[in-house]
Amino acid sequence: MGRRKKIVQECETLMDKPENIRNIAIAAHVDHGKTTLTDNLLAGAGMIADEGEATKLMMDTEEDEQERGITIDAANVSMTHEYEDTNHLINLIDTPGHVDFGGDVTRAMRAVDGALVVVDAVEGAMPQTETVLRQALREGVKPALFINKVDRLISELQEGPEEMQERLLSVIHDVNELIRGMTEDMDDVEDWTVSVEGGTVAFGSALYKWGVSMPSMQRTGMDFGDIMELERADKRQELHERTPLSNVVLDMVCEHFPNPVDAQPRRIPRIWRGDADSDLAEEMRVVNEDGEVVFMVTDISMDPHAGEIATGRVFSGTLEKGQELYVSGTAGKNRLQSVGLFMGGEREEVEHVPAGNIAAVTGLKDAIAGSTVSSVEMTPFESIEHISEPVITKS
Ligand code: GDP
Repeated sequence: MGRRKKIVQECETLMDKPENIRNIAIAAHVDHGKTTLTDNLLAGAGMIADEGEATKLMMDTEEDEQERGITIDAANVSMTHEYEDTNHLINLIDTPGHVDFGGDVTRAMRAVDGALVVVDAVEGAMPQTETVLRQALREGVKPALFINKVDRLISELQEGPEEMQERLLSVIHDVNELIRGMTEDMDDVEDWTVSVEGGTVAFGSALYKWGVSMPSMQRTGMDFGDIMELERADKRQELHERTPLSNVVLDMVCEHFPNPVDAQPRRIPRIWRGDADSDLAEEMRVVNEDGEVVFMVTDISMDPHAGEIATGRVFSGTLEKGQELYVSGTAGKNRLQSVGLFMGGEREEVEHVPAGNIAAVTGLKDAIAGSTVSSVEMTPFESIEHISEPVITKS
């Protein structure tokens, strides 16, 4: 079976198993390595080709595009990853990097349950690190930390083991201080902090594609000493092969980020201001795929073939083609023309998308980023001004 077919088949099976889904974002201060890490994860999960295979993948894609009118959308990618003999569907949403897009970052965070925060080992936590952490915690999104560019500490700054350890611990300390400051109002502050022993911190080099965490050290038998030796000897390919970054990070995602069933009971009271005693609240908390439809739109994009695409999180119910749904802040209903999922970097139409997934749909002509779309009238996730929007985007 071709790679694409296999991905599609795996994603279609996994979308019906919320326990196996992880909805995540990667967030970072500019230049700390978000893009390089994302490419790594996609290549590691077999979603984009490694060097040498690029041409083949491109041809695959072109053929498919002609056949089915699909498009690559780098902002949303899904990948599958096998962890402890179980296949997982990992939906990765891009968060805009710039501070000015604060509102969009918050919205993207609303769709996910875990945020992988990337911090440059040389620069340490920076203002945007604080901003993205704040946005994640406000949305009840669990953080994990990836300390990037560790190769620079070893090869460029020539740090010894103690110096390096001190520096890495101070990055972790700073990040945890930020987290503690932001979670004072929660009863379970330590649940949100990150730790090496707890497996929620990984280190490595996105550029040279190697990584390490406490669990990975136990699995591969490679410790920091081995890593320093290989990095100093310029044996980066060997380092990558023996402890590949994508495995280290995707294992961490599967093990430590909550699936939708674990996340939604905690998150719904935090992100939705409606009646907590209502049936609808309960349906969202338990990720009821048979409940009323609740779909929070996080992004609208244009597809040259399909037109306007609304991407977002299905918190309850199941999206199906032909459904007539309310769009918050507007009168009347919109009819879903198609329902899709991201598989790899491409949107693929499917019959239905149940609660717990990130869906991409067409037909919601009145929806904008931030709209709550539902089968019953409800308190929206956010109230938005609709007044000028159609003039800007739809004329
Ligand atoms: P983003 O702005 O967070 O998406 O950062 P990028 O992924 O674009 O990386 C910014 C710069 O840092 C680029 O020049 C990368 O090549 C470089 N970079 C990323 N990761 C590493 C790393 O692990 N080690 C080193 N030495 N450079 C890196």
